[in-house]
Amino acid sequence: MEGKRMRIQSESQPQSVILLTKIKDFTRALLSDLTNRRSPLILIDRFRSYCTLPNSNCFCASDCPCGKEILTLSRKTHAHRLVVMLRVLLIVQKLLQENKHSSKRDIYYTYPSVFLGESFNLLNQSMVDQAINDICILMQCSRHNLNVVSAGNGYNMRSHSTLENALCCQNFLNNNNNNSLIFTFLHIIMTCSNVFNWLIMGWIRFSEGERIYDCISSPNTAHPVPVYVEEVQDIISVAHYILVVEKESVFQRLANDQFCNSNHCIVITGRGYPDIPTRRFLRLLVDNLRLPVYCLVDCDPYGFDILTTYRFGSMQMAYDTKHLRVPEIHWLGAFPSDSERYSVPKQCLLPLTAEDKRKVEAMLLRCYLQREVPQWRLQLTLILQRGIKFEIEALSVYALSFLSESYIPSKIEGKLMM
Ligand SMILES: [Zn+2]
Repeated sequence: MEGKRMRIQSESQPQSVILLTKIKDFTRALLSDLTNRRSPLILIDRFRSYCTLPNSNCFCASDCPCGKEILTLSRKTHAHRLVVMLRVLLIVQKLLQENKHSSKRDIYYTYPSVFLGESFNLLNQSMVDQAINDICILMQCSRHNLNVVSAGNGYNMRSHSTLENALCCQNFLNNNNNNSLIFTFLHIIMTCSNVFNWLIMGWIRFSEGERIYDCISSPNTAHPVPVYVEEVQDIISVAHYILVVEKESVFQRLANDQFCNSNHCIVITGRGYPDIPTRRFLRLLVDNLRLPVYCLVDCDPYGFDILTTYRFGSMQMAYDTKHLRVPEIHWLGAFPSDSERYSVPKQCLLPLTAEDKRKVEAMLLRCYLQREVPQWRLQLTLILQRGIKFEIEALSVYALSFLSESYIPSKIEGKLMM
């Protein structure tokens, strides 16, 4: 195992060296502009996973940037964005030099006063997110190359020790104003409540660094996986397919029903909107195992949006979509037409809210639906026309194990997926 670890570290070394050089070049150029009394212009490529232009022959599927954003110090908002970017860059540089990892939240709490801007606004963690995205685009790399991981993902293993956390909190208490107490509590709550984001079970075995994930030995047991996807290797599987389920409750139902025993598959849940490691891991599984992959979501706008996130990626991460999307994913259900096909009782069908309708209407405009999955778009139209939605669990109204024993196997055998 030690040998493998060494190999990983020596392989990742050149990438960090390249990045450190790029960071140095970038800051040197900025400094040179400023000392020569020139206002620096920073060009940031723009990426998008879709557009909403009617009947366009767009290039959203090409992974190419769609234009550039020009940051200049003459605009106050740009200047602040640049300050945040440089602060984050400083942290990233330190992480790369010391070969350490950190979460986005750690970064946020390093300079909360800077990242908060002028007003106390918790939503401004998005400034850190934007800075990380900007840096990835400028340095032409993925987020994991910066040694920045998802919040809570393996947090306690690699980023800070508990003592460092305590000191960090103590620093806030000593140095900041009244907000520091709120920060401290938020930090602790967020850290403790979200140590891992996703679950896996089934006929698969893999290693992550020195840790072995041997799901095959008990294929119906959920394994929480705080995984460093870049360190996953030795993936072995005898599964016939991969099933992605939107909800943990459905995942647990399948686990209780011993679903993987009778169906020889791998089941994953990203617990709602999948985070980056979940999507990277799914991409890795599909690349390595070449298995069919199916997705089971609620029949509502959010379920549909989660499905499209797996298949096409999210707008926020559009610059890195090619490493995150899974175009091979098929939609297994629930389709709007399933309510009739499986006689879902009326009381389990819920009316779409005004917000639901707005969300569906906005999603219908996305170019990739028309271009790549018109049959999905048709189903989305049907949701809107009928004005109803239902949860996956509604299908199990007559029999608790309906999903495991009937719905999923019959859909896969009958090829009733899109
Ligand atoms: Zn487009």
